[in-house]
Amino acid sequence: MNKALFDHIDTNADEFVARVMDYVRHPSISAHDIGIRAVAGMLVRHLEGLGFEAGLVETPGHPFVLGRFDVDPARPTVLLYGHYDVQPPDPLEAWISPPFEPALRDGRIWARGIGDNKGQHFAQLLAIETHLKVHGTLPCNVIFLLEGEEEIGSPQIANFVKQNADRLQADLVVTSDGPLHESGQPVITFGVRGVASFDLLAKGASRDVHSGNFGGVVPNPIWTLVQLLATMKDADGNITVEGITEPVIPATNLEREVISRLPDDETAVKADLAIDELDGPRDRPYWDRLMFHPTLTINGISGGYNGPGSKTVLPNQAIAKCDIRLVEPLTPDYVFERVEAHVARFAPEV
Ligand SMILES: [Zn+2]
Repeated sequence: MNKALFDHIDTNADEFVARVMDYVRHPSISAHDIGIRAVAGMLVRHLEGLGFEAGLVETPGHPFVLGRFDVDPARPTVLLYGHYDVQPPDPLEAWISPPFEPALRDGRIWARGIGDNKGQHFAQLLAIETHLKVHGTLPCNVIFLLEGEEEIGSPQIANFVKQNADRLQADLVVTSDGPLHESGQPVITFGVRGVASFDLLAKGASRDVHSGNFGGVVPNPIWTLVQLLATMKDADGNITVEGITEPVIPATNLEREVISRLPDDETAVKADLAIDELDGPRDRPYWDRLMFHPTLTINGISGGYNGPGSKTVLPNQAIAKCDIRLVEPLTPDYVFERVEAHVARFAPEV
């Protein structure tokens, strides 16, 4: 049964590659609202061509593409999730071939969206097409859901899911939105950490002032932020915001046993990123870090003067953008509460 499927794929491999290249040739940049409707429309027609009942679901933002192929209500239903929008391709000068002119190099397709996520969900569409061509039907009911705003933070998806819960009932959700493991081995990820993003804003005087005239008199909001941030994580890498690490559910013995059998990615990651040491705490195993612990990341700090040369400015505002990666049982609301309590205690002016 499988052989016929793979024979069909082998026979049509060149055509499939040409078609996925054609798909990513169409820009669909959600942040700039470029090409979104055109690509969403293409997908609806494509799904309809496969025999899906498909359409756009409008939202206050970009539409969702939703298609379903019902085989038999007694069979399980698989929901395939992906997103048809892509990141802006800047900086353009860093591309060897233009982002929307797909090129084949070193056995790979180079184009914006091919790896995130148009390539992946198009491969699923081709798999469905192959199955239909070879067997005339699918082994289960399939819901295909493609989002148009994943790259701008999925602002509509929570509402969309609530409002369309009955149409999204499924026994299994598969999201194709992830990277390929360097080994080339297929990987099934059972979940990822959550994220809570926040800004810390420190304000000083009513305007920027001169460090010669006012230094030592007017407080500097960048120092305020730096001191505050230093109370949130210690030099060894431990998060010191009360209540963030305490409730974390430790890994079970079964989980530990399973991750001990994962390939060692640490060496390759260190080499790829040119780092000698992992982040603190030092004694934590590689996979533990990625699976069982929350993190506090400073995404960026801005304020004052960062241009060429020097400027003796004493800035009146500073912002730190941060995120906390969440593990069980942390939720964004809970984490925001803990961060607010911490800030209120150590730097209430922030
Ligand atoms: Zn993605």
